[in-house]
Amino acid sequence: MNIILMAIPFFFLLIIIELVLDKVRHTQYYRVNDSINSLTAGVLSRVTGIARRVIPFSMYALCFDYLSLTVLPDTPWIWAMAFVLYDFCYYWFHRLHHEVNVLWASHVVHHSSEEYNLTTALRQTSSGLVGWIFYLPMAVIGVPVHILVAVGALNLIYQFWVHTQHVPKLGWYEWIFVTPSNHRVHHAQNQLYIDRNYGGVFILWDRLFGTFQEEQEDEKPIYGIRKALHSWNPLWANVHVYTQLLQDCRHAQRWQDKFLVWFKPTGWRPTDVEKNYPLAKVDLNQFKKFDVNLSINSKVYCSLQHILTLVIAVMFLLNVGSMTEWQKWGTMAFIVFSSYSIGSILENREFAVVLEWLKNILVCMALVMISVPSWLAVILWVATLSSMLLLWDLWQTRRGKLTATAHTQ
Ligand SMILES: [Zn+2]
Ligand SMILES: [Zn+2]
Repeated sequence: MNIILMAIPFFFLLIIIELVLDKVRHTQYYRVNDSINSLTAGVLSRVTGIARRVIPFSMYALCFDYLSLTVLPDTPWIWAMAFVLYDFCYYWFHRLHHEVNVLWASHVVHHSSEEYNLTTALRQTSSGLVGWIFYLPMAVIGVPVHILVAVGALNLIYQFWVHTQHVPKLGWYEWIFVTPSNHRVHHAQNQLYIDRNYGGVFILWDRLFGTFQEEQEDEKPIYGIRKALHSWNPLWANVHVYTQLLQDCRHAQRWQDKFLVWFKPTGWRPTDVEKNYPLAKVDLNQFKKFDVNLSINSKVYCSLQHILTLVIAVMFLLNVGSMTEWQKWGTMAFIVFSSYSIGSILENREFAVVLEWLKNILVCMALVMISVPSWLAVILWVATLSSMLLLWDLWQTRRGKLTATAHTQ
């Protein structure tokens, strides 16, 4: 089984422990809407990854078959060497994903949260397609595909625990490894911290290549991105920088600029576009986290729906190998639809309740038509029927508000 899937229960256990700590210490590092968005981005990344991973694996395997100088044996030393080498390649992969416009468009999802907690770690992109290029040196020196996949998964799993504000600096460990403190710097948008600390497991690469910055006592990190997302829509989180680049490409008058806009350093815009379509400058002194006021009912409804979508997604990832094509694509479409729809409720959109009615009716129809294990069917029925009750209440509240507004006009 996939190592990352095996780690999922531990991820959730640690998230629950951090949530309890958050309540006990009154730290307020968690917000329902932000956490749902981070977890949804993670779900979308894993689910779309099923389609996306075909290319990287095939390309790596192809390069390994035709370009490898030798085939390295399956020994502990080779595994250790591959683990370190993978992180070295990851450093450059990560650094360039911050420094080049089109690569940033893919990586930005991971940085779009204005909170910093363990759910932020799971906020991953759904659009990475060229990352495999950075690992090709490993194919050339003969690291077999199964070792690359395993050390890649271990690298990703290591990065999970560093997304917390509850762990202080860790003495000598800070010198060698990526830690919560030096990764907090990586997620901050303060001038002092921005574009620093790219390592995945080892912070040594940053010290070596001049991109290291230590967390300062008197400079509290402000998390998030300079061009704030201001949305709870996980699909928009994945495409908003691509959309900006596409617009700049369309608006640019010179043909060279239409091409260069994708590959220039992050933030670069053609001079004419910058002049004719200026973007608002950020003032971190006025920084305010994005939020939309929600009733407690909406929060409970979204949490319930989110857990339901999570259960369906995990079941999907575990069973995708034995599914027919239409079941596979149907479930993927449902998960994407549900993620978008929950985001719309979180944003208090007018059409959101209608989308949710449609989704719940679809789930009921699917439960009647498709055979699922009985324990899962019970969970899904109970969750869907209670969701519909909550939704009825949300619907009534919204109608009540609309009528009240009409009367006052
Ligand atoms: Zn990053
Ligand atoms: Zn991170």
